[in-house]
Amino acid sequence: MEAYFHSVVLDDDKCIGCTNCIKRCPTQAIRVKDGKAMILKERCIDCGECIRTCPQGAKKSITDPIEKIHDYKFKIALIAPSVLGQFDDNTPPGKIISALKIIGFDDVFEVARGADLSTFYTKQLLKKKTERPLISSSCPAVVRLIQARFPDLIDHLITLQSPMEISAALAREKALKNNSDLSDDEIGVFFISPCPAKVTSISNPVGSKESRVTGVLSISAIYPIIIHNLDKATDDEAEVYASSTGIGWAKPNGEVIALGIKNYLSVDGIENAISVLDTIENDKLGHIDFIEITSCPNGCVGGPLNVENKYIARRRIRYLSEKYDALSKNKRPTSAITNTPTTIDDFLFTEPIEKRDFDILGKNMIESMNLMEKAEEIFQQLPDDIDCGACGAPTCKALAEDIALGRAHIDDCIIRLKDKLKMDSKI
Ligand code: SF4
Ligand code: SF4
Repeated sequence: MEAYFHSVVLDDDKCIGCTNCIKRCPTQAIRVKDGKAMILKERCIDCGECIRTCPQGAKKSITDPIEKIHDYKFKIALIAPSVLGQFDDNTPPGKIISALKIIGFDDVFEVARGADLSTFYTKQLLKKKTERPLISSSCPAVVRLIQARFPDLIDHLITLQSPMEISAALAREKALKNNSDLSDDEIGVFFISPCPAKVTSISNPVGSKESRVTGVLSISAIYPIIIHNLDKATDDEAEVYASSTGIGWAKPNGEVIALGIKNYLSVDGIENAISVLDTIENDKLGHIDFIEITSCPNGCVGGPLNVENKYIARRRIRYLSEKYDALSKNKRPTSAITNTPTTIDDFLFTEPIEKRDFDILGKNMIESMNLMEKAEEIFQQLPDDIDCGACGAPTCKALAEDIALGRAHIDDCIIRLKDKLKMDSKI
């Protein structure tokens, strides 16, 4: 496995080097070099902000082609709750499930069911853990942001696997139980994803050694295929097991509504996430029990791999949540909790969450201190902290570090170069 696999990559042909993306990246992972926006692998957290920002569509997320499902004898589609938000009110979840089966999936398992189980176990952790606030670990971009920029908050993270991983385990278990001739490696579990952070979390999981998910299809890639097959699809309502609270996870507040707690914060969007994490790091917000944070604006329905406008999708999720809430009052059979004999130990992290020290410049302490000193000297030679981005680095300080590391030159600063040329012409 690559140390830093990333789903987010640059499409060289489309990038015009406009530098729009460099200032939006929350970890300063982008540099424009020779007119192209390269991503520093060790800094990227796959939040997808650059995909959203690029006016040329030059940043994209690598996912699997649909043909990959045929490498497996038994194919399972894991659908994120946000998938349901992509379709209009005339396309009920049962029809989406039916269309996915027409496409070739043997089973469709809703991640909303894993979300229910996650809610159930998070309630236990809220009683057991003393750190406050506890922070949701369901958004992989937020977990990576904490590893990289807020390592002191790692102990505040909920140590539970994501609803996607929980659902993958449950879906495999169900397939093995119902098909005695099937072995685990003959099952392909494909997550239909709204965001690149989840794609990366399958190749490079945090909190466990390996993912139970086999591959990822983006919502934007599978959406037209589902639409194409809707005419033949039936409304398979009996196959819909998601609860109203599980579906609600796709939108802001969804997780905290499911938890039924009062003392919470719900934060969406990477800049808001950074601001709140900063506040917690400054020893504030200790009076709050739980913080739900998603890096995408408007939660998972705001992920860059969705197709529907995030506000419309959010309304649709709310509508479905209310509908299934009413139905469950009539004893509709929902939820993974009622029929799954699991314990919290089945889904706790098995690996520690490591700090990602990308601010340390060298291989060891002495080398880092020397490089920091060198970067500081270079920084003093740059114009007064104007952070124009014209050099291709997001800030003057970042350029100074790049020069100290040998991946940029002081003449990349065009303001300084212009002043220097002016001075030289006077001599
Ligand atoms: S926003 Fe970034 S990736 Fe997109 S064209 Fe501009 S420099 Fe290239
Ligand atoms: S995916 Fe996020 S962290 Fe990675 S380069 Fe793009 S904006 Fe930066």
